[in-house]
Amino acid sequence: MRILLVEDDALLGDGVRAGLKQAGFAVDWSQDGQAAKLALQTEDYAVVVLDLGLPKLSGTDLLKWLRATHSKVPVLVLTARDTVADRVSGLNAGADDYLIKPFDLDELIARINALLRRSAGQVTQSLQHGSIILTPETHQVTLEGKSVELSAREFTLLHELLLHVGRVQSREQLEQHLYGWGEEVESNSIEVHVHHLRKKLGSNLIRTLRGVGYVIDQDKP
Ligand code: CA
Repeated sequence: MRILLVEDDALLGDGVRAGLKQAGFAVDWSQDGQAAKLALQTEDYAVVVLDLGLPKLSGTDLLKWLRATHSKVPVLVLTARDTVADRVSGLNAGADDYLIKPFDLDELIARINALLRRSAGQVTQSLQHGSIILTPETHQVTLEGKSVELSAREFTLLHELLLHVGRVQSREQLEQHLYGWGEEVESNSIEVHVHHLRKKLGSNLIRTLRGVGYVIDQDKP
């Protein structure tokens, strides 16, 4: 899952980026409104975490522009003060949720996961495929009822494939969800994560289409 973080406060931005990365998200961090606009024009994001007070282009103006492009990407607004006016202007501009600074990182992650669920149109919190159950909220995967230890990237990869069962995901698409800007991506890294997932969850779970990508088939638990 790729997230765009828009925050001009270096300390806060760095902390949030690190926390989201640790939770398994790929994070791109823009420090002003113009840079964020450029990022949104060139990349696909699952969620945008947006500070309202930004240099060059305000968060509210960025959000108005984004919604004018008919983008439906969920936006979680960070506001400095608990003022009704701030909240209302953010929500009016098209935000889906907001958090008041200072906030707890766990709460931010829970809210992001809620937005992801909502945008995926999922009624239940977990994804089930055969005897595998993946719960985004608790970052837990079970196989036949037993908990399976996955790395953050293995988890994200499995999550992506389970969200698109029956549809092939290219290596580039998957890399987009696993790695943020400037992160070194080894050419075979997806293959390595897939290999680990097969070892942990079953050799038939993920099918490789050489030169095309990866897919979890509908009826192959
Ligand atoms: Ca700010």
